[in-house]
Amino acid sequence: MAKHGRTYRYPEGEQRPVSLTVRVPAALYDRLTQYASLHRYSLTEVVLEGIESRLETPADPREHGASDESHTDVLHQLEARLEAIVDVKIAAALAPQPRATAAPPPPATAELPQVASPPDPAPPFNTHTQYLGKLCPQGHNYAGTGQSLRNKKSASCVACNTAAIQARRHATPR
Ligand SMILES: [Zn+2]
Repeated sequence: MAKHGRTYRYPEGEQRPVSLTVRVPAALYDRLTQYASLHRYSLTEVVLEGIESRLETPADPREHGASDESHTDVLHQLEARLEAIVDVKIAAALAPQPRATAAPPPPATAELPQVASPPDPAPPFNTHTQYLGKLCPQGHNYAGTGQSLRNKKSASCVACNTAAIQARRHATPR
């Protein structure tokens, strides 16, 4: 078999390769791979070179008798393998490149542990007439201060006075 030192190159300006589907017997494929390996060719180079070589010899195999039919078969088989190779290469080229998985989600700032809100400051009261004094016997703790809001004049618990007023309002009319 003649050894071709050149490798196939697409002519300048040639469009991107097209896909050609062919099938080749496994035995032929093995020979092809062995040949390519032996001559340090890629399978594509061998196949394309074979096709070019064949096409550069314009001849209708039917005009040359049965001896060329095997050549035609080989060519067809090479074409088949070429198609398979091109398909694989194109598929590989078109396949999405594997990427690292998405970055981990940002820290869930919204998931901060629930912290008990500080107790509300004691609501304002009339400091002219009221003050925070000793906790009354009823335990009217004013806004969590531990003290009772008391009237300055009477020193009585405001909450107790309010409760007493409400009790009188709800009392059964006489
Ligand atoms: Zn009270």
